[in-house]
Amino acid sequence: MIDQFGRTVRGLRVSLTQRCNLNCIYCHHEGEGGISSEMTRDEVLRIIRVAKSLGVGRVKYTGGEPLLRRDLPEIISGTIAMGMEDVAITTNGTLLEERARELWDAGLRRLNVSMPSIRPCVYASLTKGALAEVFAGIKVAKDLGIDIKINVVIMKGINDDEVDELVGYAKEIGGSLQLIELEDLNLDPEFFRRHYFDLTAVEGRLDTMADRVEARSDMNNRKRYIMGSLAVEVVRPANSTHFCANCTRLRVTSDGKLKPCLMRSDNLVDVLGPMRAGCSDGEIRRLFEGATRLREPYYRQAS
Ligand code: SAM
Repeated sequence: MIDQFGRTVRGLRVSLTQRCNLNCIYCHHEGEGGISSEMTRDEVLRIIRVAKSLGVGRVKYTGGEPLLRRDLPEIISGTIAMGMEDVAITTNGTLLEERARELWDAGLRRLNVSMPSIRPCVYASLTKGALAEVFAGIKVAKDLGIDIKINVVIMKGINDDEVDELVGYAKEIGGSLQLIELEDLNLDPEFFRRHYFDLTAVEGRLDTMADRVEARSDMNNRKRYIMGSLAVEVVRPANSTHFCANCTRLRVTSDGKLKPCLMRSDNLVDVLGPMRAGCSDGEIRRLFEGATRLREPYYRQAS
């Protein structure tokens, strides 16, 4: 599937639920609105199977909190069984201690843990959760052999002074680190105005700390700073024509709609409705092709 801007769709980001056991003050909810119906396991796997037949090789499960789905291990093992090259989840990590084993047994080998602060009080004020649970979950997952990437949205006056500590923690657990610029989506405008933090200075600092810097051609050409065994990535989507020009991802909302762009909700393509009305795989393929035609870079050079 190649869109009108020459961008091939290589990955799906699938939201499995909008339910969450945390309440992060900065959360963009993956660009989704309120609570709605959820796809069943079989519906998720059918959508993925059709996407695979169209050349998609990567799947990331998100939410809400994907670990709230009891059937997550079956969804993961079903996805892996189709021969997807890369299957991962993004989680807040609070339920990992009890569930990491099931995920490992299902075949999961890679996950992202969102940890917006390494300081318990700051973490609690941002998420209403307990950082100790996240640390415990990371330890269990890491001991099993799952690769961990720590995701941190950096916010001015909240956690912008934690970068060195986060680098130290990621090194200590043998994981990697992803620093993310705050996106203005589903947020209180005043919160965004006060806490948006431009990561240019952080990139400069990482430059001086890194042994070398790479660009990930598979992921929006984002920069990766290599420091010994640690890789630190910086994700800067805000106002970035470069980020959008290199986007290879299509989204699926928790209620089964193809979402061509995180930032837009006016061009969704419903798949769950047609599936529940008995449509064929060929029709689902056409819905995917239609959604691909609707893909446009959200930020682009004025022509
Ligand atoms: N509950 C899961 C978790 O915590 O990872 C999945 C949902 S969360 C919305 C998915 C990712 O979005 C996390 O990595 C989080 O850091 C990121 N995120 C949430 N709000 C954001 C925002 N306003 N700007 C940038 N990234 C954001």
